[in-house]
Amino acid sequence: QKPVDVDSLKALVRTVPDFPKPGILFYDITTLLKDKTGFAQLIDAMAAHYLSQKIDLVLGIEARGFIFGPALAYRLNAGFVPVRKPRKLPAPVARVTYDLEYGTDTLEIHLDAIQSGQKVVLVDDLLATGGTMEATVKLVKQLGGEIAGLGFAVELDFLKGRDRFPGYDVFSLLHYD
Ligand code: AMP
Repeated sequence: QKPVDVDSLKALVRTVPDFPKPGILFYDITTLLKDKTGFAQLIDAMAAHYLSQKIDLVLGIEARGFIFGPALAYRLNAGFVPVRKPRKLPAPVARVTYDLEYGTDTLEIHLDAIQSGQKVVLVDDLLATGGTMEATVKLVKQLGGEIAGLGFAVELDFLKGRDRFPGYDVFSLLHYD
């Protein structure tokens, strides 16, 4: 497999100033997704990070974790588990509520989504402050999953979100400072 050219992948991510509100620089991955070579390279490079291990499940966080998670799961020969916003999952759930800049947010997972001891990779599109992933880690621990890694397409290094996860394998392909 050819080594991936990270700079050419970064060039496919569009940045949009002041979205969704003034002062936020939004990293828009839709421009990378529609590029068939870029999307394939991104998934392959993320998968390469985990291929030496036997991964049972890839878990994706709503909504953009649903784009990368299933592709990665397919590549790793693993199952896929969705972590969803409240009241979307039909069967009994575990629930976590976490703080945002203003207010709180809630995520849910089916109680039977993970069997104790299964090796799980948690995936989202982007690591910013890490609050979303930290909440998801709590859910997975509650269900007894063994966390093999936290994977992201994009990481905003200056927000130091990875500092919330000492001892965990935090992997992102595209870094921005
Ligand atoms: P956080 O919990 O702060 O790590 O935020 C992560 C979640 O918010 C991810 O699901 C991202 O999709 C989204 N997000 C946060 N900041 C940005 C940004 N600057 N551009 C695009 N998405 C973002």
